[in-house]
Amino acid sequence: MPDYLLEVAEAVREDDGGAVADYIPQLAEASPDTLAIAVTTVNGRTHAAGDVDVEFSIQSISKPFAYAAAIMDRGLERVLRTVGLEPSGEAFNELSLETGTHRPKNPMINAGAIATHQLLLGEDADEDARVERALDFFSRLAGRPLAVDRAVYESEMATADRNFAIAHMLRTHGVIAAAAHDVVDGYTRQCSITVTAADLSVMAATLACGGVQPVTGERVVDAATARHTLAVMAGSGMYDAAGSWLTTVGIPAKSGVSGGLIGALPGQVGIGAMSPRLDEHGNSVRGVKMFERLSRDMGMHLMQPS
Ligand code: GLN
Repeated sequence: MPDYLLEVAEAVREDDGGAVADYIPQLAEASPDTLAIAVTTVNGRTHAAGDVDVEFSIQSISKPFAYAAAIMDRGLERVLRTVGLEPSGEAFNELSLETGTHRPKNPMINAGAIATHQLLLGEDADEDARVERALDFFSRLAGRPLAVDRAVYESEMATADRNFAIAHMLRTHGVIAAAAHDVVDGYTRQCSITVTAADLSVMAATLACGGVQPVTGERVVDAATARHTLAVMAGSGMYDAAGSWLTTVGIPAKSGVSGGLIGALPGQVGIGAMSPRLDEHGNSVRGVKMFERLSRDMGMHLMQPS
């Protein structure tokens, strides 16, 4: 496995397609050449190749995990009253809501994730408590204490006009109750939690294991919520590339704007990848290629009879 993963990484190393995100100034500082792939099996063994110890901000990969935490805190019915389940077919930062219900279409785009973040814990929680909840939950998924990268957080807050616009839109329709600024502040800190590709692979493996962290043995997510979260990732995790991803790769997945990418194949593996250059959908170019290769070589595809 380690030799194989090294080969998977080496096969894409020279591909310099795509561009590092620069709408968050701090992300533009990232080395575009960082490249890592890690696979964690359901018995808790992680195999890895490349820069697996390089830390980066989790960004949108926080969305499925915060969604799982919100369901555990508030119950699925309450969460579904606020955020829908349908793929949006739109960019991650689109200002759009479902017609009629005014819910964000799903929790994997910014509108849905900002609404989900403010569901954490309960109505009386303030932004610090919500961020602490996310940090504690993500740390238990990773099996080690994680922290917020202040420089990334401050950099994004200085350029977060679009997310403020989304939060104000949500407040206009009563989707969020807290002040728009506070919710975006908490959501941005959630996105600024730092992880490695190895952390991501273990976190994804927890979902693949039905919510049991395969290294610590802790049940972090209940089985129904883990399954529900994976289903939402399968439908919406790759934004407006979700349909082609599900057919070609067939692994429930989530990408982030810093170049991280996770996948979780139920009962089999969690996968974490990192490569900062992004395609036009905001998905890691080399990350997508490594996933395509794993899916093809290993028959890692949801629709593949085992
Ligand atoms: N924090 C980023 C944002 O809200 C996350 C986006 C992403 O990773 N696609 O814009």
